[in-house]
Amino acid sequence: MALSRDAYRALGDIVGPGYISEDPAVMDSYAYQWLAETVRPNHSKFMPRPEAALLPASTKEVQAIVRTCNKYKIKFKAYSTGWYFYGAPFSEGVIQMDMRRMDHIVEIDEKNMVAVIEPYVIAGVLQAEVMKRGLNCTVTGAGASCSTLVGATCYHGSGGTSIYTGELRENLLGAEWVMPNGEILRTGSVGSGCGWFCAEGPGPSMRGIVRGALGARGGLGVYTKCAVKLSPWPGPTEFPIEGTVPAYRSPLPKNFRAYTVAFKDWGSLFEAYYRLYDNEICYYAHRQWTMLGADLGPAFWMLYQDPTKSLDDIQEFVRKREVKELTEEMRRSFQLVLVGMSQRDIAYKEKVLDRILEETGGWKVKKWLEPEMEQFSLLYLLRLGRKNLNFVYTGGWVGNFMQSGTPDFVKKYEPIAEDATEEYQEKGLLVDCGSDSMMGCVGSIGGGGQCGLEQFGFYDVADKASTAAAVEWMKHCIQEEARRNIPPGKEGMYLAVGKTHAELQRDLAKQPLTHTWQRKIKQALDPNNLGDRMYPTLDEK
Ligand SMILES: Cc1cc2nc3c(=O)[nH]c(=O)nc-3n(C[C@H](O)[C@H](O)[C@H](O)COP(=O)(O)OP(=O)(O)OC[C@H]3O[C@@H](n4cnc5c(N)ncnc54)[C@H](O)[C@@H]3O)c2cc1C
Repeated sequence: MALSRDAYRALGDIVGPGYISEDPAVMDSYAYQWLAETVRPNHSKFMPRPEAALLPASTKEVQAIVRTCNKYKIKFKAYSTGWYFYGAPFSEGVIQMDMRRMDHIVEIDEKNMVAVIEPYVIAGVLQAEVMKRGLNCTVTGAGASCSTLVGATCYHGSGGTSIYTGELRENLLGAEWVMPNGEILRTGSVGSGCGWFCAEGPGPSMRGIVRGALGARGGLGVYTKCAVKLSPWPGPTEFPIEGTVPAYRSPLPKNFRAYTVAFKDWGSLFEAYYRLYDNEICYYAHRQWTMLGADLGPAFWMLYQDPTKSLDDIQEFVRKREVKELTEEMRRSFQLVLVGMSQRDIAYKEKVLDRILEETGGWKVKKWLEPEMEQFSLLYLLRLGRKNLNFVYTGGWVGNFMQSGTPDFVKKYEPIAEDATEEYQEKGLLVDCGSDSMMGCVGSIGGGGQCGLEQFGFYDVADKASTAAAVEWMKHCIQEEARRNIPPGKEGMYLAVGKTHAELQRDLAKQPLTHTWQRKIKQALDPNNLGDRMYPTLDEK
């Protein structure tokens, strides 16, 4: 369904001829998405092809596009850094707004620790700029190359430093929002002309509608700017970098310490989580290295340190005696970074950590105390510049579970995740890297919050049997969760993308109140129904 020539011309007049295209090859580059193969017919790697792609350069242009879409009744969807298939069209007849030209850091208010950013400002760039001013920002677990605005306004937004720097959804201090009806709303204090410092008022807060827990994922208008809260960074104005590709290292000063801490069982590990909450000593707290599997992960991280090795050498590493020992030692482990605001502060935090480990029977893994390993950890964990590694085994992964709650709640579903995964790995349909491939935040500011474990399943994107197994594995996990009264995890969100309207309505009807209210909000803000079902609503009977 091509756009009418009138509509295409009207849209082209807004951005100029160099910034609009309907070339099928270009459109397919937008439609080609990781995870598409898990929900599209015949495991196609393509989401529906957009009718056109536009690259607006300003809020004014975004508003003009949205108004034109309302005039011609064309659906639209924004896309910033585009790591997930959620940003792609879900049906025919949609135009894609590619936000990459809006890549400015509008303002850094050093004194009040606030940054105002556009959609294509990636976390790595923002972090580099604010570090020059003794500040840091939350880099979500998705890594340094993801849009910070998306994490704050559109989807999720937690990371390893969330325990100190906050989740991006918490750090949101106001947004500039081109609503689906084409009006612009500035939420929070900026809307009253008072500057970007507060997301809630004066007047009623819009955070619940703009953001909620997971965001509208492109289903309810376009965010063109937002402000995020920054945090202290008592380190150098830029990361000192040493070493060679791929395992660069950062020799940060002695007020920075990185640890891999291990425990004899899950109970002790989760007990340590509670004690870390109570004592507020962490700058970074996350289970990260196990994401590549408790059986294969340690071998991978060791070979990664040697620039002459590649993934083909992993068997050689698995067989090494010291790697075997490390693998056993790291089974119940997670990563921590302590940062002292002064030498006394770091000495105090170290003492508290030692006491917690003593009381929970935990220990610091020696291998990761070696100066080069610690420097690697500091750079990797604080900058998260290597999220390509999620794809390293086979080019595809899904992250199941990750329901957040108290450590005791997470402890309940951990064995379910392992059991539900084992047979798929044993059959060779998912990479057999260990039935515990779980990573996740220890918690958010104040403890608790986004504590969870995401169970990774690595499937081969080039192999339909493996892709089909990944889909079956997601469904199997949902069944196993339901059997034990655990709500579905992230796999439920992935699979929902492939559901029919009727199937989705059946799911939404299980929470009728929320989704009825959302329908009313959508009717008010999107009268022509131009957003997609990423903002889920229950149909009127
Ligand atoms: C390897 C990997 C690891 C991850 N780990 C974590 C994690 O640990 N913690 C976490 O919180 N998240 C995690 N995520 C998810 C992550 O939060 C998002 O992928 C990321 O924050 C957004 O960047 P993106 O490139 O995916 O955004 P995009 O794909 O550009 O957008 C994401 C959604 O927001 C919409 N959108 C984009 N820009 C706009 C805009 N300007 N206005 C309105 N809607 C818009 C899109 O339509 C889409 O639905 C992970 C993702 C990956 C790929």
